[in-house]
Amino acid sequence: MYIKISEIPREGLDVAASRGKAWIPRVLEGMDPYPLSACRLTSASLVLSVEGRNLFASGSFTARGEACCDRCTEVFTVALDREFSTILVPGDKGPSGATNVELHEDDLDIGFYDGAGIEVTDLFWEQVALALPVKLLCSEDCRGVCPMCGANRNRGECACSEAQPDRPFDILMNLKKKKE
Ligand SMILES: [Zn+2]
Ligand SMILES: [Zn+2]
Repeated sequence: MYIKISEIPREGLDVAASRGKAWIPRVLEGMDPYPLSACRLTSASLVLSVEGRNLFASGSFTARGEACCDRCTEVFTVALDREFSTILVPGDKGPSGATNVELHEDDLDIGFYDGAGIEVTDLFWEQVALALPVKLLCSEDCRGVCPMCGANRNRGECACSEAQPDRPFDILMNLKKKKE
């Protein structure tokens, strides 16, 4: 949903209140959610206000995504949530194009917009990306897969925990067979 600067009143625009709840579930449609395989906002709030030519966006969201665990490769549900406060300055991209912006708060994110308005989907997508953990793990203590047979260690011990493989190449062969 694109919101023009001219649509934002002096006192600010509460997007959910002015556009109804229907704007939330579809907001991430059509975006590539990598490294998630799917992602959907479950709740969101957004207030936009304008100061000079700068746009202030503050809000929060909760989202649910699907991802493969970095350790055991099982698909699991990722719950994300974040509160944000972003200042958007007119311009294309990169700090070189940045104008002299006085930051009111240290923790304020800074971004860019096209000078005419803001695509709400992009804004939320950026926030989802920022909320993603560095490592996607199905659980903090995921035990991963056995480097020898490829078995998911969360499901129990495999037979290799004691024995060492005779030839390291067998590991690759076993993994390859697993994938097929
Ligand atoms: Zn895992
Ligand atoms: Zn094993």
